[in-house]
Amino acid sequence: MSLPEFKLLLRPRTVEEAVGLLAKHANNIRVLAGGTDLIPSMRQKLFEPQYVLDIRHISELKGVHPRPGTGVEIGALTTHTTLERSDLLRQRYPVLTEAAGTVASPLLRNMGTIGGNICLDTRCLWYNQSLTWRKACGFCIKKDGDLCHVAPGGTKCWAAFSGDTPPALLCLNAEIEIASPSGMRRVPLREFYTGIGDSYRKLQADELLTRVFLPDTSAYYHGIYRKLRIRGSIDYPLAGVAVVLKRSNGHVADARLAITAVNPAPILIVGATQMLAGKVIDESLADAVGDLAAKTAKPLTTSALTPEYRREMIRVFTKRAVLAVANNESLVRH
Ligand SMILES: Cc1cc2nc3c(=O)[nH]c(=O)nc-3n(C[C@H](O)[C@H](O)[C@H](O)COP(=O)(O)OP(=O)(O)OC[C@H]3O[C@@H](n4cnc5c(N)ncnc54)[C@H](O)[C@@H]3O)c2cc1C
Repeated sequence: MSLPEFKLLLRPRTVEEAVGLLAKHANNIRVLAGGTDLIPSMRQKLFEPQYVLDIRHISELKGVHPRPGTGVEIGALTTHTTLERSDLLRQRYPVLTEAAGTVASPLLRNMGTIGGNICLDTRCLWYNQSLTWRKACGFCIKKDGDLCHVAPGGTKCWAAFSGDTPPALLCLNAEIEIASPSGMRRVPLREFYTGIGDSYRKLQADELLTRVFLPDTSAYYHGIYRKLRIRGSIDYPLAGVAVVLKRSNGHVADARLAITAVNPAPILIVGATQMLAGKVIDESLADAVGDLAAKTAKPLTTSALTPEYRREMIRVFTKRAVLAVANNESLVRH
């Protein structure tokens, strides 16, 4: 599959220049960071922009920087390999290094960025296919058609958000910075996603995600990320669970749980925090949290594994992750 022709590859050196170009060519331009998702999608003719904005030369958007008194700032162009190898992150926010280390394969982690992972397009069996396949089998709501093959009769797109780092970032109460022609704004990551597969993120055509902030208040939580995928060496998640936990006097002082790849958005399960707070973790509590996570998961036939299996694996992974993270802290009551 060849790349569709486009007029110009634009290479800004600053955020201001990038945002100016986005505003100028809005609706006919695509941002390219690592390109590990955008380029295959362009080859499949899912996107055929006239302009491609290659932001890789904006050096201020690279790296992991401690910000004393507030937390840690991560540039949108920071690669998964950098996240995975950062001692600072491993020490303070281990759930993120763990999630970053499971993205795709080593080569793709060298190219793929945290910004691209947060902005990652939603995925579906009926969407991530070549133009020839989609023509033959029927277009869908997300691209070129007006029906959903996954939920026939429905008008909502159920393509699944399938990024690995966002559930970890949700557990850490991360915020993101978005640059636009009218300046910068900072929003909690949990407000970034819409829950609708074909318009999954709140980002205007002239906006660029520039930075991620991890607050000091989320540092030093024990954390675990577990994912289900077909080939352990490379594939996107088909179900994913992130858990973080802090204890005090043997009890859970605070805990957060988020899931991915089973809904059109990654979801922070607020009820899990309430369920775990102040408790000593045992099997039955971990079971109950697993049940809650499975109820929140709404996978449809958007991937090669059945929705029932993926929902069940959310339950299993959640239970295991809660027990494992508690075990690290000697919180399990036998
Ligand atoms: C074989 C294969 C396996 C994969 N497995 C996984 C996996 O296991 N887990 C996983 O999470 N991902 C996986 N991916 C997808 C991808 O590698 C990662 O999600 C990666 O983090 C995407 O980042 P990128 O910089 O390459 O994004 P790009 O491909 O450059 O961009 C992705 C999307 O985000 C937009 N975008 C990028 N940066 C910005 C920004 N700063 N502001 C606004 N919009 C932006 C782009 O326009 C595009 O729509 C896989 C990809 C492949 C090809």
